[in-house]
Amino acid sequence: MIQRDEFHAGWKEEPTEEYTHFVSYSGGKDSTAMLIRLLEEKRLPIGKTLIVFADTQYEFKELYEYIHTIEKHIQTYPGFETQKIIILEEYDIATWDQWFYGRLTRGKKKGMYRGMPKLTTPCYWTREAKVKQLFKLREQYPIEEVFIGIAVDEETRYASATIVKEGEEFKVKDGNLRYPLVEWNMTEKQCVTYLQQMRIPSNPLYLNYRRIGCYHCPKQGVSSLFTTWKLYPEKYAEIVHWQKEHRKLMYLNMFEEVILCHYIPLTPYVHNDHFKEHFASLRCYNGDVEELQQKFETGYIPRNKTAVGCWSGCIGVKQAYQELGCGLQMEYERQSELFDFD
Ligand code: SF4
Repeated sequence: MIQRDEFHAGWKEEPTEEYTHFVSYSGGKDSTAMLIRLLEEKRLPIGKTLIVFADTQYEFKELYEYIHTIEKHIQTYPGFETQKIIILEEYDIATWDQWFYGRLTRGKKKGMYRGMPKLTTPCYWTREAKVKQLFKLREQYPIEEVFIGIAVDEETRYASATIVKEGEEFKVKDGNLRYPLVEWNMTEKQCVTYLQQMRIPSNPLYLNYRRIGCYHCPKQGVSSLFTTWKLYPEKYAEIVHWQKEHRKLMYLNMFEEVILCHYIPLTPYVHNDHFKEHFASLRCYNGDVEELQQKFETGYIPRNKTAVGCWSGCIGVKQAYQELGCGLQMEYERQSELFDFD
């Protein structure tokens, strides 16, 4: 198994040429199918294409291995022999710790500790680890087209795009964003089938998870937590660690609020009781992960696999791409105010 640091060694070099086309690659089935078909249809200009994976630093090691496999495959296309998948991981904006232990800078709870990303609002770590890194890159190059791997059956994630006729072709556009899977009418299932037809192996994480995201993501369900407990006990220990840290911060928040005489109810991992129904619909686990671990240890096995992470509909990701493509910063700001997050 290739280790993260070993694999990163070849990726750290800064791209030095002029790039005009940019593929946002996650290692998931949809963006892999999009990338391969774009290559097959010769839509990526040789020497001017940047394929980018934004690393949250909380990825499973199998993801790196898989990206390495795909990189090798890309290099079999004529002209793409030296093409790299660039990893974005320079957190000169802020680290996870800075954000987690940092204080809210606006909204009604300004000054309170931030803790884990909230379940019902866009995730600050999506923005810091993915969006801002992509922003930085976009500023460096005269990017004409950004390819996003959203399947046609994920309508809400490309709702702001329009269909435009360019010459004989119809394109689904949103600023400089392109949604090739929508143009090709490819559903998530068809992406899997396409990869099978092209003899591209699936990301092994899909054997156990329905979606891919940070392993400590609070927006995951019981069955993905079960899988992590079963297969990656050291990562489950990290999940427990972050929940405990989060609770400490929430106690500190409560203490400060009492001192400031505007007490709000303490909520341990989840932030507001009246959101419970919404959490249930999101299928996020909002209980104590240590207690859950004890249940697992005494034989409890959740029945259904549930989604995990960004790609399960976190609006942060959707808005991230909208921001990237056509400056919907204002809408993002508006929602930030609405949801009282930063
Ligand atoms: S996987 Fe979860 S914690 Fe990670 S960036 Fe996405 S929403 Fe945030």
